[in-house]
Amino acid sequence: MTRSGGCQCGGVRYEATGEPHHHAVCHCADCRASAGAPMVGWIAFDADQVRVTQGAPTTYAGKNGARRQFCPACGTGLFYTNAEILPGITEIQSATLDTAAQETPQAQIQLADRLPWIDQLDTLARFDRFPEG
Ligand SMILES: [Zn+2]
Ligand SMILES: [Zn+2]
Repeated sequence: MTRSGGCQCGGVRYEATGEPHHHAVCHCADCRASAGAPMVGWIAFDADQVRVTQGAPTTYAGKNGARRQFCPACGTGLFYTNAEILPGITEIQSATLDTAAQETPQAQIQLADRLPWIDQLDTLARFDRFPEG
């Protein structure tokens, strides 16, 4: 199976072939800071299964060997690699997959770092669109 995806502006596109190792939603503070979002979905492949097919992401070298790659034009986060913690693995921000709606994660990880209100999401008011008035 080949999956494709890319950034918001379309400047960077990628393909991932074969089956992923895992797909998880990460609640760690590092992902949160990088994405500016409460949590980030990650789907992990062998590095040689992932290929940039258009454009070139920019790399931010973060803490503890983390290398986060994102589109230099629109800022969408795309890839995470870490030669120390995850040698040979490329993780893709799974919401950037063209098939994100069909890619259900298997787990939530780093819950110890989660924003405390994450546990209350199901209790918040819900609107299919912006609320009226
Ligand atoms: Zn872009
Ligand atoms: Zn994380």
